[in-house]
Amino acid sequence: MENQSDKFQQVISHTKEYGFVFQSSELYDGLAAVYDYGQYGVELRRNLRDYWWKSMVQMNDNIVGIDSAIFMHPTIWKASGHVDNFNDPMVDNKDSKKRYRVDVIIEDKAAQYEAAGDKATADALIASMDTMLTNADFAGLRQLLIDHKIVCPLSGTSNWTDVRQFNLMFSTQMGSVSEDSDTIYLRPETAQGIFVNFLNVQKTGRMKIPFGIAQVGKAFRNEIVARQFIFRMREFEQMEMQFFVRPGSEMEWYNHWREKRMAWHKSLGIDASMLRFKDHTKLAHYANAAVDIEYNFPFGFKEVEGIHSRTDFDLKQHQTFSKKKIQYFDNDLNEEGKPYGNYIPFVVETSVGLDRLFLLTLCNAFEEQVIPKEDGTSDSRSVLHLPAILAPYKVAILPLLKKDGLPEAARKIADELRPFHSIFYEEKDTIGKRYRRMDAIGTPFCVCVDHQTLTDGTVTIRDRDKMTQERVPASSLKEIIDQAVRMPIL
Ligand code: ATP
Repeated sequence: MENQSDKFQQVISHTKEYGFVFQSSELYDGLAAVYDYGQYGVELRRNLRDYWWKSMVQMNDNIVGIDSAIFMHPTIWKASGHVDNFNDPMVDNKDSKKRYRVDVIIEDKAAQYEAAGDKATADALIASMDTMLTNADFAGLRQLLIDHKIVCPLSGTSNWTDVRQFNLMFSTQMGSVSEDSDTIYLRPETAQGIFVNFLNVQKTGRMKIPFGIAQVGKAFRNEIVARQFIFRMREFEQMEMQFFVRPGSEMEWYNHWREKRMAWHKSLGIDASMLRFKDHTKLAHYANAAVDIEYNFPFGFKEVEGIHSRTDFDLKQHQTFSKKKIQYFDNDLNEEGKPYGNYIPFVVETSVGLDRLFLLTLCNAFEEQVIPKEDGTSDSRSVLHLPAILAPYKVAILPLLKKDGLPEAARKIADELRPFHSIFYEEKDTIGKRYRRMDAIGTPFCVCVDHQTLTDGTVTIRDRDKMTQERVPASSLKEIIDQAVRMPIL
């Protein structure tokens, strides 16, 4: 465990040292749980987003995308249930003044029981908690903290306040008067922008069920317990797809997307043993089946993506609150040879956090590698084994020396590749140091331009992971990189 937490610290330091992620407003001592992406981070994040978009939209002819605004009519959040239900039960420790999510500290206690071999007490504790959460029994939850001697890790006391609910939505005012009716929320999920555009897209795109609408965009949650770096942020990005299906066929599609999404994560080189499904036992009010895809982060298995069968809850709610009919006419024939007719479609949702996926990708790719040398000593390097399709730069073009016409030849090769792939060009420092820097930002190929290049047009191409070099014609570089970054068919 010690090792794993060291690894997490190494990943965090690496992301900062190499310009992937910075604390927001660092110059002013930072803003909690908000982060900025640096020069390499922005590329990696964009590549992850593109990979998702291509696999969902480009590779499926029944899925289209939209980009809805962050600000929406406030009644949308009434209809979705966020105004009334998007709360976390919180408790403060009176001695340390620290605030905790009640379910999180109770789950931690249950994990301690389980680790100590007392699974029965752990299960009973979780079962009591679930009942109390469902019944909004806050006094009961507080009593659980006391009965199980759950203490604040900082003060070591169980001097708890009452348990209270906190809404996770950020609000602001639109217009000049700050009255209730002007309250606008920063969306806590992108999904609602899809639901309220269901009819627009279905009609204008002449979409036939089953079909999906995908969206990538910012979401905001006033997370109370925001720890673990970019795992839980107050401003983050979601990549969501709502798949509209015929009522009764939702479990078939739920299983379809469950498998598809797991295969997608594996396609990025994640070992199967690092991923698992976690079925929800406690379903949200709108769902009839739900599962998380979890990744084994250095701090344990945690959710990266949720797949939810949301029934017709959302469209029905918007129909009620907007007082406008939201229906689909299905002219396919049923078993009796009659059209299915009008209905409110059911929805299967896939929802993944881009930033959490970014963290997963870095944790999975990072290695502090020891390289044995022939003389018995060893060397080391920090390397990101990123899949080529995600790497910020696909290839570095490096002249061996800063003279003899090598920089000119190298620049020419770089300029020819630039329209097709992201290229890094560098001539400072020894070639060894330059290779190490490229390893650290995950560049899959390094091309060295040397004296032989001037005579026969060949270069050496170095593989980041194997650290082997091969001599190839410079004219074949485009094809080599094209192959490495090809989108797989899943
Ligand atoms: P958690 O239980 O971790 O709070 P959730 O179940 O509330 O997550 P969903 O509402 O299902 O999450 O959101 C879908 C995805 O959005 C999550 O799987 C996660 O990847 C991402 N996500 C949610 N909240 C955050 C956050 N605060 N910071 C970063 N990513 C987030």
